[in-house]
Amino acid sequence: MSDKEPKIQVIIRKRPLNSKEISKGDIDILFKTSSNSLVVREQKLKVDLTKYIEEHNFAFDGVYSEEVSNHELYINTVQPIVLAAFQGAKVTCFAYGQTGSGKTYTMMGEANTPGLYLLAARDIFEHRNELLPEIKVSVSFYEIYCNKLLDLLNDRNKLHVREDAKQSVNIVGLVHRPVETVQNLMSIISQGMEKRTTGQTGANDDSSRSHAVLEISLKNSKKTLGKVSFIDLAGSERGADVSNSDTKTRIDGAEINKSLLALKECIRALDQEKKHLPFRGSKLTLVLKDSFIGCCRTIMIGNVSPGLFSCEHTLNTLRYSDRVK
Ligand code: ADP
Ligand code: MG
Repeated sequence: MSDKEPKIQVIIRKRPLNSKEISKGDIDILFKTSSNSLVVREQKLKVDLTKYIEEHNFAFDGVYSEEVSNHELYINTVQPIVLAAFQGAKVTCFAYGQTGSGKTYTMMGEANTPGLYLLAARDIFEHRNELLPEIKVSVSFYEIYCNKLLDLLNDRNKLHVREDAKQSVNIVGLVHRPVETVQNLMSIISQGMEKRTTGQTGANDDSSRSHAVLEISLKNSKKTLGKVSFIDLAGSERGADVSNSDTKTRIDGAEINKSLLALKECIRALDQEKKHLPFRGSKLTLVLKDSFIGCCRTIMIGNVSPGLFSCEHTLNTLRYSDRVK
């Protein structure tokens, strides 16, 4: 990692239109205009019901369109900074976006297309095995759901956050599993994924209301060096559920909204090199405090759906990502 690598990068990833959307008559309204810009061509109706198009232009550190594989995305975003963790850096990657926009596809991947977890783990183990065999790798995996911390590697055991005298934040009782190989790590992650929150309504409901935090820590005999964290955030549309008639959904929504706003504020403060970051704005930012101080490298991936029917949520994601920096 050189000083040229920016501390914070915000990139956008667009997924392809799927067959369900196509069969409903949805159309692609997102167009990449350069390596780092895109336009949303929103279709609107005038009062006389004639159609017109409103264009929304955005620029980020990178824009990745639907043909880009997880591997290509990895090579261009996380790979250049992941090994900085061996020098003590805190490397953090967030996936933000509405439910169904591709956050978990990006992080976990699917059978034939592994995601960032596996791709990063391969590089971490390769580097360790070749050059630094004395370094121990461990993993923890938890979710933040309704403001509660649940350990995905310990039967959803409820965890508590403590700040010690030096004001470092500890998650009491969080399981850190030592891992020796990529396969070992992936099988632990798969077990953790199965423990994620399952809701009652709708197909993609299970994970959309919780933030999943995966941390890969590197230690030598004395202390923790760096770590690499991946955060598959709750569906951003959940934060807008604040006027829902269902009380539980509404409370969840308010909590998610609060944490996503606090996250934005922390990343902005980090980008502006402010001394004091507003960690206390939410449980999410409090537990990630460590990842925002000292030497850190942060990547925010704004995942977007391409369809006209998702336009409002897509614009929300683009505006959120735009304001992070
Ligand atoms: P989220 O985690 O944001 O709710 P998912 O990652 O579960 O969304 O993605 C929703 C659906 O879209 C899944 O069926 C997934 O396979 C598909 N999908 C997402 N991103 C891509 C992509 N880049 N290429 C192909 N299919 C994708
Ligand atoms: Mg998901």
